[in-house]
Amino acid sequence: MGKLAIDGGSPARTTPFATWPVYGDLEMQLLKEVLESGKWGGAGGAAKSNYEPKLPQMERKFAELQNAQYAVSVVNGTVAITVALQAAGLKPGDEVIVPPYTFIATASAALAYGIIPVFADIEEDTLLIDPEKVEALITARTKGIIAVHIAGAPANMTRLKEIAAKHGLALIEDAAQAVGASWEGQGIGAIGDLGTFSLQSSKNLNAGEGGIITTNNRDYWENAWSICNVGRVPNGGWYQHDRFGQNYRMSEFQAAVVMGQMTRLEEQMSKREQNAKLLDELLSGTKGIRLLKQDPRITRHAYHLYMFKLDLEQAEKNDFIRKANAEGVPLAAGYIPLNRNQSIIETTKMWTGEERVYDCPVCERLCEKEAVWLTQHILLSDEQAIREVAHGLQKVAQSY
Ligand SMILES: *Cc1c(COP(=O)(O)O)cnc(C)c1O
Repeated sequence: MGKLAIDGGSPARTTPFATWPVYGDLEMQLLKEVLESGKWGGAGGAAKSNYEPKLPQMERKFAELQNAQYAVSVVNGTVAITVALQAAGLKPGDEVIVPPYTFIATASAALAYGIIPVFADIEEDTLLIDPEKVEALITARTKGIIAVHIAGAPANMTRLKEIAAKHGLALIEDAAQAVGASWEGQGIGAIGDLGTFSLQSSKNLNAGEGGIITTNNRDYWENAWSICNVGRVPNGGWYQHDRFGQNYRMSEFQAAVVMGQMTRLEEQMSKREQNAKLLDELLSGTKGIRLLKQDPRITRHAYHLYMFKLDLEQAEKNDFIRKANAEGVPLAAGYIPLNRNQSIIETTKMWTGEERVYDCPVCERLCEKEAVWLTQHILLSDEQAIREVAHGLQKVAQSY
């Protein structure tokens, strides 16, 4: 296989990967329309008479994309989670069950409203929340579950829905990484009670910043809309604030970028799927590398991340990553278990008055020794890039 790059051999990949973000004349045109319209914000502003505001158009298109009836745009994916929990009726002091293998916002967004995250361990082979561990943690204080579709792979929504229904819990989908994904043919985001998406720079649909909440429930839609619009009600007065809310609105500029980006989504998704499949084929059977399992009910994986596991006796995960990076493969170590995050533990203590420690042995072991990932823009590169990535990873794996 040749000498490792870290030992002075030639790297497997020396040319850059696909650039991110991708834009063109369409985004320029849409942004110019907003600029010239005079209507720049999500509320108020004097629009020219022939201007059709982009936020409602974008929300409609986004809802359609995810097979949801309603969508509410919001400043970011973190706030989207807080608002979704509030819209579903959770109150400060209530508990919500979340996975530990996720971005910190899944838990911090709950804590922002005094809702207490309780950590249910993940499945060994998928790194997704384990529904049976969720059920085992339910108490009288539990009021909700957040299913995180990590990497763009939908969690087991069928089982989680059953559990939520049986115990009368709200089911929220943190779909920040999963725009375009589907479970049993249905777009994720409105399979549970509410879903939340992120439009932050790294995400597969990018407006720099931004978020979307989806639902099929009219009351939840109205609650969410109202919370994001300082407690106003749809078609109500400007100074009529019937609920407690904040200003969480996105701008027309962001909506313009999303409208443009949505026209590119399908092509980008197919490319990622095709390259992920190729990478699966090239890496399968490689000693030291183990691919994740994919539930056949996942009818579309969004591949925000390409995750896999290392399975090496003496090798340390960080050593493998250093060697892969030297090969020109931007392999990343991934998350640190959220159940061990000090700021989460301390903020939980601030609200509850008690120190709560959750053990998630599967997640902790996988984070320490096994789980690694490549980010989505690698999968937008050409076939040659994918072959070189696989070659680099195999070189490193075989060196142990
Ligand atoms: C990115 C992300 C968020 C937060 O979204 P922001 O738009 O960055 O606030 C929440 N959950 C997950 C799983 C994410 O990946």
